[in-house]
Amino acid sequence: MPFRTAFPLRSASGTASLPDDHEDTLRGRLSRAGARGEFRLHYQPRIDIDTGRIVSAEALLRWQQPDGSLVAPDDFIPEAEETGLIRSIGAWVLEAACRDCRRWQQIGLAGLPVSVNVSAVQFRWGDLESVVEGALLGSGLDPALLEIELTESRALEDSDTGGQIARIAATGVRVAIDDFGKGYSNLARLGELDIQTLKIDRFFLHNIEEDDKGLALLEAIVGLTRRLGLEAVAEGVETPAAAARLAMIGCSRAQGYLWSKPLPPREFEHFALAWEPL
Ligand code: C2E
Ligand code: CA
Ligand code: CA
Ligand code: CA
Repeated sequence: MPFRTAFPLRSASGTASLPDDHEDTLRGRLSRAGARGEFRLHYQPRIDIDTGRIVSAEALLRWQQPDGSLVAPDDFIPEAEETGLIRSIGAWVLEAACRDCRRWQQIGLAGLPVSVNVSAVQFRWGDLESVVEGALLGSGLDPALLEIELTESRALEDSDTGGQIARIAATGVRVAIDDFGKGYSNLARLGELDIQTLKIDRFFLHNIEEDDKGLALLEAIVGLTRRLGLEAVAEGVETPAAAARLAMIGCSRAQGYLWSKPLPPREFEHFALAWEPL
């Protein structure tokens, strides 16, 4: 496995135990990681199961250590959110993803969009629109080729996100709800938000191969998505059987290890250029 946890992150009780500004703390290292150029984006293709084409790519953040190992986002994003460092990290992610996507347009992958994860905390600051705009202007990327992914809990549980989402959508950027079905959301808000995509949490994929109830649940979510005029994307597809089931219930967009793990930028480009639709 390429990832490891490089730091004593927090005690079992959930409280960070190291002092704030010591050279070797997670916080200290994280605060210097941007300036040291230690962040990397990997890209995972989103596939259209019906046509076999790559329809998009999701940018997933990694933190490269001096020894070359990569730390997974779940091991440092919570700290980045608590400390506010996510603000500069998130801006870097948007800029780098827009730059990479702009490059794809010029190397034979014209029309391939990029999807970027945005933290709830970035949203709370209220300046996400200008950060997005800056990344688009800086890269020259067509806004229609950018999608931002916002977790369900943030988008559906917080009443003042609707306006921000609408303003971002008005610029032509697409908005996706990530991890859908994981929380206890206010479903009524789904129809009110200016979103285009629902990413179904991979929890729902777990049992669909043998469990009829799991499949029924997934089918209901896909049906709801379609009725709302949204695109459903299944996450965490690992087997051909799961992909076949998804196609059967009308969910043709999916991501997962079945097709590819997230890849470093150049590897992803080679993968996408060499990809043959089924
Ligand atoms: P997510 O957005 O739900 O991303 C999907 C996660 O599932 C990724 O983990 C991906 O590598 C993994 N995955 C993809 N296909 C499969 C599969 O077939 N099976 C399994 N078991 N896993 C699969 P990753 O890269 O470790 O990212 C974890 C989370 O960190 C992401 O979940 C996202 O919430 C967050 N994240 C990643 N990059 C960023 C970023 O740039 N900014 C922010 N704010 N959050 C990020
Ligand atoms: Ca995501
Ligand atoms: Ca997700
Ligand atoms: Ca997630």
